[in-house]
Amino acid sequence: MKSLETLLKQTVFSDEEIVYLLGLKDEQDCRALQKAAYDRTTELMGSNVYYRGLIEVSNVCTSDCRYCGIRKDNHSVPRFEMTKEEIVGCAKFAADHGYGSICLQAGERNDPKFIEFIADALRAIHAETISEQLPNGVGITLSLGDQTKEVYEYWADCSGNRDNLRYLARFETSNHELFNFLHHTPKKKNKHLEHRLQCLQWLRECGYQVGTGVMIGIPGQTLHDLCADIRLFQKIDADMIGMGPYLMSEGADLKEIGQMEAKQLIRLTLNMIAVTRLVLGNINIAAATALQVLDPEGREKGIEHGANVIMPNLTPLCYRGDYQLYDKKPNLTDDPSFFAAGLQQRIESRGRTVGFNQSGSSRKWLMR
Ligand code: SAM
Repeated sequence: MKSLETLLKQTVFSDEEIVYLLGLKDEQDCRALQKAAYDRTTELMGSNVYYRGLIEVSNVCTSDCRYCGIRKDNHSVPRFEMTKEEIVGCAKFAADHGYGSICLQAGERNDPKFIEFIADALRAIHAETISEQLPNGVGITLSLGDQTKEVYEYWADCSGNRDNLRYLARFETSNHELFNFLHHTPKKKNKHLEHRLQCLQWLRECGYQVGTGVMIGIPGQTLHDLCADIRLFQKIDADMIGMGPYLMSEGADLKEIGQMEAKQLIRLTLNMIAVTRLVLGNINIAAATALQVLDPEGREKGIEHGANVIMPNLTPLCYRGDYQLYDKKPNLTDDPSFFAAGLQQRIESRGRTVGFNQSGSSRKWLMR
């Protein structure tokens, strides 16, 4: 194996090298990996971190992903659906506070009423967020799971802003066996990895900026699995990656597998962010909220390791407690205006600036 110093100057990596970098534990080595990823981010993406205001529009879900706190069979969660007016209110808050973009996320639903509801919300957001600073309205990311190609096409039309439209659909893990373990119950084979990959392909064909990602540190997942995940990011030719640690949830159906120890899990997650930056280059990488569960400065550490997107939560406080994908979800009571000011300060303390009023498309996508 080459020296770490030589390795960190490369732009092309073998699987063996990726596995080695992912597994770094020595503090000095990890610092060298972090610095290389941070510098590569500055070189390829500039110094801005972009906000995507997260709006958790509904926790109603027809899927039963075993790890997820809002899975269909968790009957202890009261279900909610924000109104169109509430969603547009959050989008306007984002636009008024200089967030160049928002992300609408929800449980998975394919019924015509939901599809039309999202379509209506998209039209209204576009109409109501156009301003001098945002002549095409606020940028939009959708994170609404598996849909048909026709639905992806329809929502793209309704957004009124195809040039600035993104979709985030994590494939969770590229290991088929692990994927099936996480998604199949004796009652139902809930999801299929191939189908999610098909959805990502349709999203590409419909012109979306394609975002995907995985959960990191799922018990049973190996460094080779994470390396295969990075290879699949490359194969998909992702424009954006949103990934975070796997965390236990009271409402999940997976208590038997436990969770990695917090210190190890945050190390692995940060290594995965850094290595993804080094291998994938000029894409957007989000510092997931889940990082903050493991360390109050988890997201800022994500920024230091090569992430350049943060998703401040704009969901009205009355709904936040019912959108707990995992336990100890942070910011359940944080008022968005107060929270954003502190966040900006913390980002700047990491040598970055906030890209206000910019949608922050990945350079990879802009160069397509
Ligand atoms: N329904 C959409 C979908 O399927 O993509 C979006 C909502 S889904 C709840 C968003 C993401 O939450 C999933 O892709 C998954 O990675 C993450 N998630 C759910 N439960 C989690 C857990 N226990 N730990 C970490 N991430 C989790």
